Amino acid sequence: MTHSRIRSPEAASSGYITSLSVADDGRPRRLAVLGATGSIGVSALRVAAEHPDRYVVAALAGATNVALLAEQAAAFRPRALAVLDAARAEALRALLPAGYAPDILTGSEGYAAMAGAADVDVVVSAIVGAAGLVPTLAAVAAGKVVALANKESLVLAGDLLRETAAATGAVILPVDSEHNALFQALGGPGLPDLPLVEKLVLTASGGPFRRKPREELDRATPAMALNHPTWAMGPKISVDSATLMNKGLEVIEACRLYGLPVAMVDVVVHPQSIVHSLAQLHDGSLLAHLGPADMRVAIAYCLGYPARLPLSVSRVDLVTLGSLTFEAPREADFPCLGLARRALEAGPSHTVVLNAANEAAVALFLAGRLPFMGIPLAIAAALDAHAGQPVPDAATIMDLDARVRRETAAWAEVRA
Ligand code: NAD
Ligand code: MG
Repeated sequence: MTHSRIRSPEAASSGYITSLSVADDGRPRRLAVLGATGSIGVSALRVAAEHPDRYVVAALAGATNVALLAEQAAAFRPRALAVLDAARAEALRALLPAGYAPDILTGSEGYAAMAGAADVDVVVSAIVGAAGLVPTLAAVAAGKVVALANKESLVLAGDLLRETAAATGAVILPVDSEHNALFQALGGPGLPDLPLVEKLVLTASGGPFRRKPREELDRATPAMALNHPTWAMGPKISVDSATLMNKGLEVIEACRLYGLPVAMVDVVVHPQSIVHSLAQLHDGSLLAHLGPADMRVAIAYCLGYPARLPLSVSRVDLVTLGSLTFEAPREADFPCLGLARRALEAGPSHTVVLNAANEAAVALFLAGRLPFMGIPLAIAAALDAHAGQPVPDAATIMDLDARVRRETAAWAEVRA
């Protein structure tokens, strides 16, 4: 077996997506947290609060939850804040403590400016969905260390992120627990050269409907889909976990992070969410990362990289747990996983279409306007209608994203 069999011969972009050289001069790292008011953002701030000597919160961005952002701002006193629009900026200003007057930026441009600001070392990219792309690209264009939770960025623009990082020296570190697990298991500095890896195995909890019969999936409600068995997350990724689209996006994320063909990334269902993923090497070894189902572990590894800092998360008690189990995903009943693989193989614009149709369909499902099993149907319809196109820059990608969202809404309207 040669190394060329292991790596896709046509993949011009094989190897880890960025360099991994993170300077550590011992000074506190200055953090910008985008999506600060979300599940990942709140966890990131808990990590920062645990090590006030190591992290300074320089900037915080939310969208509409100004009350929580004001609380966070009062606690950390960052120099800059950002929200969705001018009305929110005004509401936020009114909630800030007397004598504290940070810059308040707004909208996509404001988030991007915050991500690229000179007084920021590490950007936590934790906005949900395609809205995270432009700020993430701005952070990479500015050569930052990016703790990337926003997997949608890689689904929309893997090549662009890789090329931009090559030009600026930006470092992308994966926050997503599976990719963070692989990153830890493989050993950071060894990552750009992956000759020993036969395949990556992403673990999936299976979501709330792991054992639900196919006929009951048709009647699944938003409340049922949001009730995740092992992870507490935002609504969009919770629905993605229920459809298995989250694992589909993560297959794409893994291929783009490591420059691997889709055939080298497997998915196995592991309901306990303790083994966070595994790498299979060419001598049959499996390197895995285990830990509690708490995103602070992955976030802290990215924020401290290459150092590891102590963390007050719960410890896994293997004896109490008793057993760890694994099973195959029910791909026929959860078509989103296969749709993601199909899009990845079809080309870079197809993954933009996949993501946009999924975001639109999830929003329609949460609004009660599309049944649960309508989500994969909407995505399949969008992929069927797409012939492929070049996606060289963020503007083209966001145009395609907007068009597919409109088309998916129209498709659902006709279907209803
Ligand atoms: P969430 O819904 O809890 O939070 C989303 C954040 O994004 C909020 O701060 C919100 O204000 C902000 N936001 C929403 N729309 C925005 C817009 N248009 N512009 C700017 N900001 C906007 O989501 P989450 O669960 O924290 O997930 C965030 C990202 O992290 C997602 O990409 C998700 O896939 C990824 N992720 C999350 C988890 C998890 O455990 N929650 C795990 C792995 C990856
Ligand atoms: Mg994940």
